[in-house]
Amino acid sequence: MTRIENYIGGQFSGAESGDTLPLIDPSINEEYGSIPASGDDDVERAVHAASRAFESWGGSTPTFRSGWLNRLADGIESRLEQFAEAESRDNGKPVSLARTVDIPRAIANFRFFAGAILHDSSDAYTDTPGALNYTLRHPLGVVGCISPWNLPLYLFSWKIAPALAAGNCVVGKPSEVTPLTAYLLAQTCDEIGFPEGVLNIVHGSGPSAGAAIVTHKDVRAISFTGGTATGRVIAKSAGEALKKVSLELGGKNPTIIFADANLDEAIDGAVRAGFSNQGQICLCGSRILIERSIYDEVRDRLVEAVSAIKVGDPLLEDTQMGAIVSEDHLNKIIHHLSIARSEGGVILCGGERVSLEGRCENGFFFSPTLIEGLEASCQTNQEEIFGPVATLLPFDDESKAIQLANSTPYGLAASVWTTNLETAHRVGHELQSGIVWVNCWMPRDLRTPFGGSKDSGMGREGGFHALRFFTESKNITIKTA
Ligand code: NAD
Repeated sequence: MTRIENYIGGQFSGAESGDTLPLIDPSINEEYGSIPASGDDDVERAVHAASRAFESWGGSTPTFRSGWLNRLADGIESRLEQFAEAESRDNGKPVSLARTVDIPRAIANFRFFAGAILHDSSDAYTDTPGALNYTLRHPLGVVGCISPWNLPLYLFSWKIAPALAAGNCVVGKPSEVTPLTAYLLAQTCDEIGFPEGVLNIVHGSGPSAGAAIVTHKDVRAISFTGGTATGRVIAKSAGEALKKVSLELGGKNPTIIFADANLDEAIDGAVRAGFSNQGQICLCGSRILIERSIYDEVRDRLVEAVSAIKVGDPLLEDTQMGAIVSEDHLNKIIHHLSIARSEGGVILCGGERVSLEGRCENGFFFSPTLIEGLEASCQTNQEEIFGPVATLLPFDDESKAIQLANSTPYGLAASVWTTNLETAHRVGHELQSGIVWVNCWMPRDLRTPFGGSKDSGMGREGGFHALRFFTESKNITIKTA
């Protein structure tokens, strides 16, 4: 059994209470370990360790911090296979995906911000009559980073890396559902001698350990990725304490296919957008909008492609879709399917729990599902399902496509498939979405702003946007004449 521990002030320990939560491998539905069920006392110790460490880390040079982030990236890279297997076991995702996307991206996050901090600069206004203005950017102090289960190390590192690069000390909490790679990260810190207390990792449930981080008076900012309902709770409590908060929340993203699109590429893109990581990516395109003149052809080709996705044991190299992350989440998806049926949806493929043979016979698998015949305003087309389920909706013209795309409370990401550059510009301009991809889905330049509008969140991560979030500006005016 794997016994995960908190990492506080450079030391490993259980929760002060001695309580634990179970760790379940979703591909076999077996308990394989435990995490500390941390609470106020553990967070208190972590904040204290971080505050002490900030006394030196907060005043260190960008070059010093950059060096440590690069060493951390090297440490993860040297254990890449171990990290990939842990991510797959914890989350149920294919190990091939963890090996080629999740872990390399986590390494890239540390390397990227190790570089970015060396290229940051601040403003100076030298032409104010009689005065010189320049702006300093100070780290905030102790910050909280709270992340979800779908891309565990990838999203945890996406917060921790800029926070540390900017000179803050971190109290981080990974999802209690997928804590294993955060524990390996702590072990990596320990191995390379990462300065004690600079990065503290506390495990436990959201309402207990997470809420203790959010409400701690010495935690100056919260960077949160997770569900919209949780985001609202955090925003309320952070607002009360006037804390900075960055919220990356849910999505119900449209994939828009125009009749002039390269259909081979569009269909391939729509399938990847809908079903990568079992459809459990906030950026997944779960509503596929298709121009009516090509609707039948695209529907039939999508059904063929989606039916061919191989659902299987995450540890097998040829598995394309692994397990759903937990039994609770599987039940949520099954519930959404019953709603879709009651709303009159026609299940074109999938729609059922999958039973595998052998090692994974008790695992939480669900078949990739396409549904048509639903109104845009129905629950299935409005609520985030966060599973391998996409709906198809026809549209007659560009303005209808835009109206359908914008018709949910969310506004995170969209992909537009067209060979007409003017259509791409016009539609891209009109979409209520933080991210628009044209003729592609998911390529990321880490310098670009990342985040959503409407119920998809507040604030932007990525590049200098993240470094701004994790610093406080101070302007200095000096009389010159
Ligand atoms: P969740 O909101 O249940 O949990 C996310 C994290 O918040 C976990 O670590 C959890 O323990 C913690 N948490 C829960 N309640 C808390 C509280 N009261 N105070 C403090 N922390 C608390 O989300 P999830 O189910 O882990 O993840 C799935 C959701 O995340 C989906 O809605 C998905 O769209 C969203 N997501 C968004 C992005 C993005 O960048 N916009 C990326 C990935 C996932």
